[in-house]
Amino acid sequence: MTEAIQRDMRSRTEPLIHAVRAHEQGAKSWSFSGIAARMNRLYDQLNNDFFRGKLPKALISIGPDLIMRYGYYHVGRDGIGAKHRIHLNSRHFGRSESDVGVTLLHEMIHVYQHLFGNVGHRHRYHNREFADIAGTLGFEAQVGTGVTKQVSGWLRTKLDQLGFSAFEKMIPDQQAEPIRKPLRKVMWKCICGQEVWAERGYALEAVCKVCHGAFERPDELTEPDEEIDLAVAQAAA
Ligand SMILES: [Zn+2]
Ligand SMILES: [Zn+2]
Repeated sequence: MTEAIQRDMRSRTEPLIHAVRAHEQGAKSWSFSGIAARMNRLYDQLNNDFFRGKLPKALISIGPDLIMRYGYYHVGRDGIGAKHRIHLNSRHFGRSESDVGVTLLHEMIHVYQHLFGNVGHRHRYHNREFADIAGTLGFEAQVGTGVTKQVSGWLRTKLDQLGFSAFEKMIPDQQAEPIRKPLRKVMWKCICGQEVWAERGYALEAVCKVCHGAFERPDELTEPDEEIDLAVAQAAA
């Protein structure tokens, strides 16, 4: 099989995605129905204009997520076997339509890299290639974190022409919430009850000055829920 044919097969849209799109648009009692329809349309427009239509259509889901991120690209197949799913975090819809559009474009670069590029490793998922593509498409993304540093005037104009204004919020009366980092530290205790906090994953070797016991991770704290974003837990309840 030639590489061209392989690429063509990889970029084929699975039928499920057409069904989901129709469903999203038709689900009028779903508060994000209108936004989902707009984001799907923007995806196709950016795909045509920036990726020469090479990307398969992605499945775009919307809803509250960890406050630490604007959205994400789900690598591989998700829990219902769908691939190329992009999630947009509705908790950040207090940002401008234009900014949310840039988030979609950011996730589209991940789709592109997974199909045609060189995906960065775990600690450098946003690699140099990612930043270079972002630069070509009109925004500056930081290597490493992937954080958007700057958006060019022409990309703003382009998004505005596609109906995503830099002056209108994605959801008009929603407060803009800052990106917050999750709690990265975990607690260690000694038998006399003193506590210290250390970076997650760090194997602490320290002795308590009071009881001379070694600091240990208490059993009840070894679950990963210390990193749970409480606001999401409440929203999900
Ligand atoms: Zn990213
Ligand atoms: Zn102690």
